[in-house]
Amino acid sequence: MTNSEHRQQPRKRLFILLLGAAGSLVLGLAFLLWWVPSVGLENIHPALPLVFGAILAVLAVAIVGGLGLLILTLLTGHDLFLLQPLRALVVRYLFPGIISLGRLLGIERDLLQQSFIALNNQLVHTRKLRVPAARTLILLPHCIQMFDCAIKITGDVEKCVRCGQCDISGLLGLAQKFGIEMAVATGGTLARKIIVEKRPKLIVAVACERDLTSGIRDAYPLPVIGILNKRPNGPCFNTQVLLPEVEQALNEYVVPEPKKADEVKK
Ligand code: SF4
Repeated sequence: MTNSEHRQQPRKRLFILLLGAAGSLVLGLAFLLWWVPSVGLENIHPALPLVFGAILAVLAVAIVGGLGLLILTLLTGHDLFLLQPLRALVVRYLFPGIISLGRLLGIERDLLQQSFIALNNQLVHTRKLRVPAARTLILLPHCIQMFDCAIKITGDVEKCVRCGQCDISGLLGLAQKFGIEMAVATGGTLARKIIVEKRPKLIVAVACERDLTSGIRDAYPLPVIGILNKRPNGPCFNTQVLLPEVEQALNEYVVPEPKKADEVKK
């Protein structure tokens, strides 16, 4: 198991626990929904509690089965069938519910979002993707550029002269090595515009918990590997990223294109 996977284990576990709690809640609610009105339904027709119970049981089994399958996918790391619909279930529908459940249990939002990102990465990992470099995009937040840098790299990251004062320099080196395009977005709207223009098949995104979470959900069904930035100077100011973490993701998912690398400005 890699270092990054080790780091993601506790985060992922939190979400799995919450998924388990949500499953138990669904079963409990289904029982209550059947039991309480059953008393009244029997007065209308003796068979009604049975029909109502059967409908609720099918719904509960479908939801709990989906959650169970998802938990198994996460625990085994294997691409179980229904994976794509499962990812849709988590990203689109379960996430807001799980966040609310976590908040009710007093868990910090950042922790929940970290868990969601780790879970998303794991689901992408189980797909065992290998994407050509030309269809991969490294997407970065503007705050990773040195605040005092006079060069405007939004729009064209190649303008960076690689002075080494911020991580843009090292990230450009990685982009060149793999032959991947890299872009800096100042917000969600620009990020969406970049994605529409470049039409990638895989995004390796660096950002904070909030932006990665919304980005992963916005970009769906496009696979996004989320890498959390480091914020030694506080949020949104001279942020950093662990380059080995980005390199590891590129090594795992990208088929390098040396020819394209030659085209990247030195
Ligand atoms: S590495 Fe590039 S973006 Fe960062 S401070 Fe230097 S010139 Fe500016």
